[in-house]
Amino acid sequence: MKKISLGISQCLLGEKVRFDGGHKRNRYLTDVLSKYVEFQSVCPELAIGLGVPRKPIRLIVTDGQDRIRGVENPDLDVTDALVAEAEYAAARMPDICGYVFMQNSPSCGVYGLKRYGSNGYGMDSKGRGAYAKRFMELMPLIPVEEAGRLNDAGLRENFITRIFALHDWRENLQENPTAKKLIDFYSRYKYQVMAHHVPSYFAIGKFLANLSGRPIGDVNREFIQLLMTALGHQASRKGNTNAMMHLRGYLKLHISKLEKEELSHLIESYGQGMVPMVVPLTLLKHHLMTLDNPYLKNQTFWSPHPDDLGLRNYVLER
Ligand code: SF4
Repeated sequence: MKKISLGISQCLLGEKVRFDGGHKRNRYLTDVLSKYVEFQSVCPELAIGLGVPRKPIRLIVTDGQDRIRGVENPDLDVTDALVAEAEYAAARMPDICGYVFMQNSPSCGVYGLKRYGSNGYGMDSKGRGAYAKRFMELMPLIPVEEAGRLNDAGLRENFITRIFALHDWRENLQENPTAKKLIDFYSRYKYQVMAHHVPSYFAIGKFLANLSGRPIGDVNREFIQLLMTALGHQASRKGNTNAMMHLRGYLKLHISKLEKEELSHLIESYGQGMVPMVVPLTLLKHHLMTLDNPYLKNQTFWSPHPDDLGLRNYVLER
């Protein structure tokens, strides 16, 4: 498989680019996910010429605006330079399928960044790093996550599911789309979308049923936005249980009463948080594969990401 292109904050690769000369190597990314992805790394602070080591900067609300300024020297304002670097980086990596940012950074932080007043006191934690903010505005399609949040099994699976889905679209549908290719592509994602967000499942079905007369390029762009939004909703135990129950329906006439009971018991145990998803999924897949039905066989729901990443071996909290 061609490696997936993924943007990343450079310090997460173990490179000593932080203000204090250190790094924030993330072993899950460098030692596990790296088997499937190729990193495009950027340290925006280094790129704008701040050097290593450097004086710390932070988000200081100035005249009602979020500005990134020096802690010791608030006259130093690097906001515009970080924004320009985001514009340069986004243009340089148009085909990435996701971005992992370092948390709590006035340049790279995505969620809950601390904002300070010009009096030096903390105000709230509602900020976003200037580089990450601009990058996300320019590339709204790509999934983003913070490295720290990847420790949460549900968030990690959701992020990796989305980068594999976007990569699939880029490889198979981005160029030269046709209505048939689009419908075939989505038919593989139906149960996965059902597990993530039932309203999107119906909305995308309706969208694809009304393609006539519309330029296929526009339809394709709108489709991938809908798909990525749908997958942005985390697949909960309830959502996965619902999708598995629907798939179980195909077995009605094909397995014994005892086998049905065993399967239902495992799906319910998963729904109650007693076993990881891999347990009922393996049995369901085993039965369904005997039907030799290409539509069912090709569902991305079985393996939205490589099995050896073990992302379904955890009991999710919800
Ligand atoms: S968080 Fe961003 S700016 Fe800070 S060291 Fe890492 S890559 Fe550089």
